[in-house]
Amino acid sequence: MLPDLRPPAPRTGDDPRGVVVLGSTGSIGCQALEVAALFPDKLRVVALAAGTRWEQLADQARAVRPRLAVIADESKYPNLKDALAGTGVEVQAGAEAVRLLGAVDADVVVAAIVGAAGLAPTLEAVRAGRTVALANKESLVVAGALVEAAAVQSGAVVVPVDSEHSALFQCLIGEPADAVERLVLTASGGPFRQRDGATFAAITPDEAVAHPNWSMGAKISVDSATMMNKGLEVIEARWLFGVPAERIDVVVHPESVVHSVVEFVDGSSKAQVGPPDMKVPIQVALSFPDRWPAAHPRLDWSTAGPLTFEAADRDRFPCLDLAYAALRTGGSAPAALNAANEVAVARFLAGDISFPDIPRLVEAGMAAASTHADTLGALLDVDREARRLARASPHFA
Ligand code: NAD
Ligand code: MG
Repeated sequence: MLPDLRPPAPRTGDDPRGVVVLGSTGSIGCQALEVAALFPDKLRVVALAAGTRWEQLADQARAVRPRLAVIADESKYPNLKDALAGTGVEVQAGAEAVRLLGAVDADVVVAAIVGAAGLAPTLEAVRAGRTVALANKESLVVAGALVEAAAVQSGAVVVPVDSEHSALFQCLIGEPADAVERLVLTASGGPFRQRDGATFAAITPDEAVAHPNWSMGAKISVDSATMMNKGLEVIEARWLFGVPAERIDVVVHPESVVHSVVEFVDGSSKAQVGPPDMKVPIQVALSFPDRWPAAHPRLDWSTAGPLTFEAADRDRFPCLDLAYAALRTGGSAPAALNAANEVAVARFLAGDISFPDIPRLVEAGMAAASTHADTLGALLDVDREARRLARASPHFA
């Protein structure tokens, strides 16, 4: 794991890299399959996993013919099994089967399940020494220290897919760790960057999931609207790059062209730029340490500007400071933050609470945190308790 940017062990022969896609029916999972389809000689999809959408998973499996297709929702097993009869694709179901996919025989595991549900298979892949193309930021938020320790032990390389962290990763290649002064994560500011905070209670789920620059799953879209996404990304960066919270900054950059910046001790900075398109960081992760030619959109520098930057408004978007506070507290505080946030986002999407209730529920859930939970079991206990508190909280608006 970074900042020790070890390339994966040299590959022997010209076999395609075997790829597992966890969360294949989601926004990142589908785009990972699109990237894999561009490179049939270099990438072979060997296993797919999804939550409940068995029809889409069956379509994907018929198209790419993996060895295995796993559906987390066991009640959908007969449907998926019937749909894939005669294809030669082995069908499994359940959370344990999803977890074990982390360690199937493969080169790269794309971790693109949403939420803390992605932790177990991600940890399994890291323990098995796989290269992990990590989109599931929540696994580092919940258990960053455990994932890091497992990577050190197994030699697994975690290559970020999150666009900001892919940018930082690319800027850090070839740089000694002690040359890094500060990481600056850019944030679009989300759909409510310019909205009067006095009207936040009237925000609807449809307004919150309509992101100005990116088309993403519902949960991360709401996280972008509250700026909890950026808070989770600060915690993700701390574990990916070993840089403490006080040396990680956030700046709002509405155009989403500068994907993040590394400042070095000599006053020089490097940024990674490009049009907002997740297929680029996905491909960077799947091809690392190589780069493969592809026709993804290029930036047209004659029309790219103006590029603007502004401070984040921490009053209208309190989730950002809640995440910094959880990171400073350490222990299981980030796990509690994440769990309560997952419940709060689900309740908001269900119309059960208002938009300003989201940070309130997160604060309520953070009462579950303890400063010394350092085993997976202890972290999962905190996750459960934070969810209970966030579910039990009345809405405040
Ligand atoms: P999504 O909601 O579109 O897809 C989530 C996927 O996870 C689906 O395939 C779903 O079936 C699967 N899933 C859900 N619960 C599961 C379970 N218990 N077991 C197995 N599979 C399960 O989400 P997304 O937008 O693709 O985001 C996925 C992850 O990537 C998130 O952690 C998100 O923060 C991160 N990410 C996404 C983007 C983006 O552009 N979408 C960018 C950066 C990071
Ligand atoms: Mg991001």
